[in-house]
Amino acid sequence: MMKIQILNTQVSVSNQIAIDDIENLKKLGVNIIICNRPDEEVLGQATFQSIKEQAELLGIAAYHIPFVGGEMQPSHIEDFLSIVKTGQKIHAYCRTGNRSTHLFNAAIAHAHIDHTPVQPEINPASMAGTPNVSVQSEAVNKANSAVMHFDVVIAGGGSAGIATAASLRKRKPHLRIAIIEPSPNHYYQPGWTMVGGGIFTRQSTQRKTGELIPKGVTWLQESVVGFEEEKNAVLLSSKRYIHYSHLVIAMGLQLDWHAIEGLEQTLGKNGVTSNYRYDLAPYTWELVKKLDKGMAIFTQPPMPIKCAGAPQKALYLSADYWFKKKCLSNIGIHFYNAGKVIFGIETYVPALKKYMKKYNAQLHFSHTLIKIDGPTQTAWFKQAAEDGDKIISTPFDMIHVCPPQSAPDVIKQSRLVDDKGWLDVNMHTLQHKKINNIWGLGDVTNTPNAKTMAAVRKQAPVVAKNICHAINQMPLSAQYDGYGSCPLTVERGKVVLAEFGYAGKLLPTFPRFINNGARPTKLAWLLKANLLPFIYWQCMLKGREWLTGCNANKKKP
Ligand code: FAD
Repeated sequence: MMKIQILNTQVSVSNQIAIDDIENLKKLGVNIIICNRPDEEVLGQATFQSIKEQAELLGIAAYHIPFVGGEMQPSHIEDFLSIVKTGQKIHAYCRTGNRSTHLFNAAIAHAHIDHTPVQPEINPASMAGTPNVSVQSEAVNKANSAVMHFDVVIAGGGSAGIATAASLRKRKPHLRIAIIEPSPNHYYQPGWTMVGGGIFTRQSTQRKTGELIPKGVTWLQESVVGFEEEKNAVLLSSKRYIHYSHLVIAMGLQLDWHAIEGLEQTLGKNGVTSNYRYDLAPYTWELVKKLDKGMAIFTQPPMPIKCAGAPQKALYLSADYWFKKKCLSNIGIHFYNAGKVIFGIETYVPALKKYMKKYNAQLHFSHTLIKIDGPTQTAWFKQAAEDGDKIISTPFDMIHVCPPQSAPDVIKQSRLVDDKGWLDVNMHTLQHKKINNIWGLGDVTNTPNAKTMAAVRKQAPVVAKNICHAINQMPLSAQYDGYGSCPLTVERGKVVLAEFGYAGKLLPTFPRFINNGARPTKLAWLLKANLLPFIYWQCMLKGREWLTGCNANKKKP
């Protein structure tokens, strides 16, 4: 006879149920049945499959999370929790109902520990047969002290981390996934150029991280401080280890403000700004509106940087404002670029040069910003020349700085990098070159593509698909072609949409008659200003993969 115990408004448990009991559970409003015991524990026990078949006939879903007494693992808790998070009415059963009760209590504790420190490396002891009254506190302790292991650990919950988690969940909903991300806020960084141009508010580029973590994925709000790849573990800032079967590294890159003498002290004042920071992008717009005569400087550091077009986008949108305000002739615009060309892909260069001419901007190549003095509004550059480097200085009224960039220090200090300090992955499969269960995507890797959100949109499904293949012991079939895109906002209302892959191969999304990427178009502006933010928040971070070539909604691996 089924003895039901109600644990809360959502979950009930019982001893072993019979096929005939399912009708009664249906009458009680149960939508999901969970079996927590292995088949054939005792002779004559109804198999999970027979329960499932009858449940499904009555429109009830059934899941099997079996474990024997004393062997409840974090993976069981995670699986149970992901079902609890659906909000559906659940009935769980085992031999007596005790295991299901322990699991429920542990899941509650686990939901709590997603956001608070837990102790690692303690062996879970037996919980079988524990009297009910002491179960709850014991289960909580066990969950808090269990070895934290996940099928997939994602280091970094920015664009690439969340997109990959969402993509994995679409493909394998029961994978146990953790994202390690310290920041409570998440940013749509491509919007910062528009904030600096007075088109977006900065608030529109920010959301709470917690709201974006896909359902069923555990968020550990901490930093990764070390990699112990031989133990399949990462070390967190709280000195805890998190173990994984697969590790995805998506930690972005580091902005090296400190590499320019005097910069950190003066950022956000004295006319010194940067669209590379959420808090500073509005200051760019403030400066642009205020300036009606003087010297405006825009800098670009050595490659690689994220969104290589962003330094000149800041220039175009500022100059366009001054042009339309009819004060451009009073403002000297200078673009100091550490590189030797205005843009790496020749196709787009003529259109960009035309705009530089329109805005009367002086181009200075092979010039790297090395020092700034805010109070005297002076900037120093190292000019690389055949007859030796020179140092030049220039005054400014406003300077937009793009900082030098490198992989995060913890990556550089690991054994996972190439000789330049970037995460060393195969440029097509995105699998680490030496360690098969480590993957990387986004700005942190050494793949020779443009470091952009657009690249991440294509990379996330590739990583997700290849991890699923690896789990299924199949060959890795998903390949990243190096796609990246840079919508160059040459004026308000027009964009030159650069889209290209490895070795500079042009990879336009639209046929030429709809959008010619080599020319400034209104359609590309609409894309940048309206469509891309929507695609980011509603598609990319939610595992909707249209136009990525790896659509999880269409075909599961
Ligand atoms: P991020 O989104 O930066 O995420 C990295 C995450 O890792 C962060 O959340 C960080 O907190 C976390 N992290 C760091 N260290 C640790 C640690 N130790 N432990 C755990 N977590 C850690 N792209 C475009 O496609 N089009 C554009 O027009 C465009 N314009 C841009 C304009 C600007 C001004 C900027 C700054 C960027 C622009 N980009 C653009 C680039 C795009 O934003 C990035 O390429 C993209 O965000 C990369 O994603 P990511 O996940 O690799 O890095």
